Amino acid sequence: MKVQKCINCGTQFRYKSIQKSIWSGYKSIICFNCGAVHDFKFIYRLLVSVIIALPIFFTRWISSVASNILWASLMYFGYLFVAIGVLPYVIRYRLKSNNLE
Ligand SMILES: [Zn+2]
Repeated sequence: MKVQKCINCGTQFRYKSIQKSIWSGYKSIICFNCGAVHDFKFIYRLLVSVIIALPIFFTRWISSVASNILWASLMYFGYLFVAIGVLPYVIRYRLKSNNLE
């Protein structure tokens, strides 16, 4: 698994810049080498929201495994922590159409 490369020049994006892009509200990423602007693909915005909301659909299962609310929230944050760590390898950007003439 690797983070995405710049579609224009092939420079690998930094893991941290993708994290920052996600948590600043799906901001575009600008390649530090050639300046090409990459937009967050809509489908991945959807994916991020689904991943974060997913445990809500498993609350029954979580409450049957976790003996109390503290364990349940620990499990949820543990899950989030892993999900957030993996996301930059999953997310893909597309080249913004009108930024390079
Ligand atoms: Zn580039």
